[in-house]
Amino acid sequence: MTKKERADFVAKKLAELYPETPIPLDHKDPYTLLIAVLLSAQCTDERVNKITPDLFALADNPADMAKQPVEKIQEIIRPCGLSPQKSKAISGLSKILIEKHNGEVPQNFPDLEELPGVGHKTASVVMSQAFGVPAFPVDTHIHRLAQRWKLTNGKNVTQTEKDLKRCFPEEQWNALHLQIIFYGREHCTARGCDGTVCGICRALYPDRKRAVKTKKA
Ligand code: SF4
Repeated sequence: MTKKERADFVAKKLAELYPETPIPLDHKDPYTLLIAVLLSAQCTDERVNKITPDLFALADNPADMAKQPVEKIQEIIRPCGLSPQKSKAISGLSKILIEKHNGEVPQNFPDLEELPGVGHKTASVVMSQAFGVPAFPVDTHIHRLAQRWKLTNGKNVTQTEKDLKRCFPEEQWNALHLQIIFYGREHCTARGCDGTVCGICRALYPDRKRAVKTKKA
């Protein structure tokens, strides 16, 4: 199979398995999604969803959050890990949204990535899931699976994003990145498979005998 044929097969298979792509992080608007995505760095979405009700009860908009002492934010988000950096970032970006963006989450990559605690992956998630702008955020699952399906050489997440954007039509990106994450969590886990087990790799590589080694994100 060519890379294009493999990509088409994967997209078709994942659309069958996950026709709906609900956003895993609970939120009510672009601001609460931005905060939830920031909290999800090196933390599971399940844990973030357990923590955010308390955080958003304290403050669920930039104006109120900017008034909160960083220590109070840190206390609530501690179970998400990296709480000193994350609480400073939440406070800092809330103040910048008030000062520079009329309290609104900016709908463009440069302004988003200028905010403390917001890198390209976080900005991509917000652009695609809050504003519906085509984006392909690459997390550990997507980086791993793209290598196993040989859609990328896995040099780094930037390269993986470029390769996947070339493999799939833009209109598929927003659903596909969630479908790949769902498949990665459910079937194609880091320890769970060697690339010879399920219907996807068996179709892409029917003669594959040895386990596939992948590079970490
Ligand atoms: S065979 Fe393994 S590596 Fe390949 S897609 Fe299935 S679960 Fe993932």
